[in-house]
Amino acid sequence: MSAHLDSWDGGTGATDNGTGVISMMEAMRLLKKWCPNPKRTIIAGHWGAEEQGINGSRAFIEDHPEIVKNIQAVFNQDGGTGRINFLNAAGFVHAYDYLGRWLRDIPDEYRNEIQAYYPGTPSGGGSDQGPFVAAGVPAYYMGTNNWDYSTLTWHTNLDTYDKIVFDDLKRSVIVSAILAYMASEDPEKASRERIKLTEKDSKGNIIPWPPMQEPIRKGGVN
Ligand SMILES: [Zn+2]
Repeated sequence: MSAHLDSWDGGTGATDNGTGVISMMEAMRLLKKWCPNPKRTIIAGHWGAEEQGINGSRAFIEDHPEIVKNIQAVFNQDGGTGRINFLNAAGFVHAYDYLGRWLRDIPDEYRNEIQAYYPGTPSGGGSDQGPFVAAGVPAYYMGTNNWDYSTLTWHTNLDTYDKIVFDDLKRSVIVSAILAYMASEDPEKASRERIKLTEKDSKGNIIPWPPMQEPIRKGGVN
């Protein structure tokens, strides 16, 4: 489970990405209470330096290849305060088999609002799922009901606590917790087979799978 702890300094970072961090903390609290012995280890990564170039998750990937090679799935929440309503399967051919299976165990009331895009396209950056996808890990950006995030609170001085919509966050917590638990219980390891990429850039070259990039480790100092 994934969110980022640092924030843009216009406001206090309530929706970017405080809402992601508290969602994952609350999901972990529920999992610990109700499902305390998952088959696989569930980790909530609260990354630093996302805003300076997605450095925290990149550094984790660089430092922990032994973990990265066994990750079943990454669910990243960096979409503001809205309820989760979209999942991009990130370009893994067989995502429907396993992500579809995990989604089926979410109650209809929540699942019916979630549109899943299969097999999806690999996201190169933008948030902390990007470095995992680059490393070949099935990692999902969980899109949300927008609540004017991109035009109102994203990287502005309006990104403050009063913008948090707790009713939506509660739904996101439930969805995140169930997805993480179902992924952890699945007897099969999620396939990492990638789609054949066909999209071309303006020069006619096929756009490659996003490459892995090294983190910057200077604490924001150039
Ligand atoms: Zn941001």
